[in-house]
Amino acid sequence: MTPKAPMPKSLSAGLVFLFAAALQSSAVADELKATGDLRWHRGNMHTHSHWSDGDDYLEAIAMWYRDHDYDFLVFTDHNVLPTTERWVDVEKSKGGRKAFDKLKAKFPDWVEERETEGRLEVRLRRFDEVSERIAVPDEFLLIQGEEISDKYESYPIHMNASHVREVLKPRGGNSVHEVMQRNLDAVMAVRKETGQPTMIHLNHPNFGYAVTAEDMVPLVGERFFEVYNGHPGVHNSGSEQRASTERIWDIVNTKRLVDFDLPLMYGLATDDGHSYHNIPSRASEPGRAWVMVLAETLSPEALIESLEAGRFYATNGVMLKSIITTPKSLTVEVGAKPGETYTIDFIGTRKGFDPSSKPVVGDDGKELHTTRVYSADIGTTLQSSEGEKATYTFQGDEIYVRARVTSSADHPNPSEIGDKQQAWVQPVMGPGGAKSASQEPATGGGRRKSK
Ligand SMILES: [Zn+2]
Ligand SMILES: [Zn+2]
Repeated sequence: MTPKAPMPKSLSAGLVFLFAAALQSSAVADELKATGDLRWHRGNMHTHSHWSDGDDYLEAIAMWYRDHDYDFLVFTDHNVLPTTERWVDVEKSKGGRKAFDKLKAKFPDWVEERETEGRLEVRLRRFDEVSERIAVPDEFLLIQGEEISDKYESYPIHMNASHVREVLKPRGGNSVHEVMQRNLDAVMAVRKETGQPTMIHLNHPNFGYAVTAEDMVPLVGERFFEVYNGHPGVHNSGSEQRASTERIWDIVNTKRLVDFDLPLMYGLATDDGHSYHNIPSRASEPGRAWVMVLAETLSPEALIESLEAGRFYATNGVMLKSIITTPKSLTVEVGAKPGETYTIDFIGTRKGFDPSSKPVVGDDGKELHTTRVYSADIGTTLQSSEGEKATYTFQGDEIYVRARVTSSADHPNPSEIGDKQQAWVQPVMGPGGAKSASQEPATGGGRRKSK
């Protein structure tokens, strides 16, 4: 409508304010909580078995997760899919006689064995056989995946593809960044060709200190990386000279939003389990870390849609009731456990931050291949409080904001000794983060309501 005569300034400003307020309250809050058909689904997206370097059989591993209150599990062996006929020597297999005897005790009617030149062999069950036997509709879902295990020089570069049909070969490349980008491109091409939503995430960047924040910043097509991996050898917390995965996360998101027209990267927590027979120990074991994904149905398509929309959180023990984003604020509520107290931190980067950085120099005076040192403006703690619920109100200049909940309770079987139980809330764009048309401010930075 076009007013015939200009309104008094104060009245027009008042109307604009009312109009804006109505807009804000009518639509754009994004509430992540279980309601109606929406449920939180607990899942682990990084799992090894006898198909590569794990020490148990797919069906035994699936039963472990089913018995421990998980809703879904992605098998991700190194550069292989469990789709072919494969026999292994029982004694030479990683789990040896022990895993075999346990398998026979658990599945007496199902184990196929034979003797070859006096050696006992067992057939590894394929994914389709295991899924048919163990999965339960609407209760427990198995997803076929692969850990694309690539490298650049001596740096291991591993990326998990979840929900794949055909094995994906590592693509290689001439830098750490290029290796990742080429594998991403390959997965995106297959996804486009087949129409099957395959999700790819970067694993354990600090394993072998292979992947730096700078390597990750310009990645096109990557929306996920592991902020917490349960394997005790992956250095989630970094070292004196090396950035932690959380520090990497903040650098990556700040630079992706400010220097590039790229969406926020989300943080996953996974087990990366290899060892299933002596829990707890300091080996890489199941049950250390997982994601909670909000979706109406338990299917690979629905889970991946929610993950890509940021409708999930990562955790190694802390459970959340709700995560509510509005144009003005971000609110987190903990599903508190008796005897525990919680610290809720809101972390982000504000406009006007100091973007300078310098390299890390080793004892020999040479620059280290590692994430550079940035100012404390990047990934700064915006607010910290004790309690089971906290709201952060945007001040207007936040580029993005994320939250982390830390319990007073130790992790019972951590990746690194001394880890507390934590939950990582996904970053949302702040009012100061809208750079391009492809990003939506405040209401979740790409977090969209599911249909
Ligand atoms: Zn790996
Ligand atoms: Zn792995």
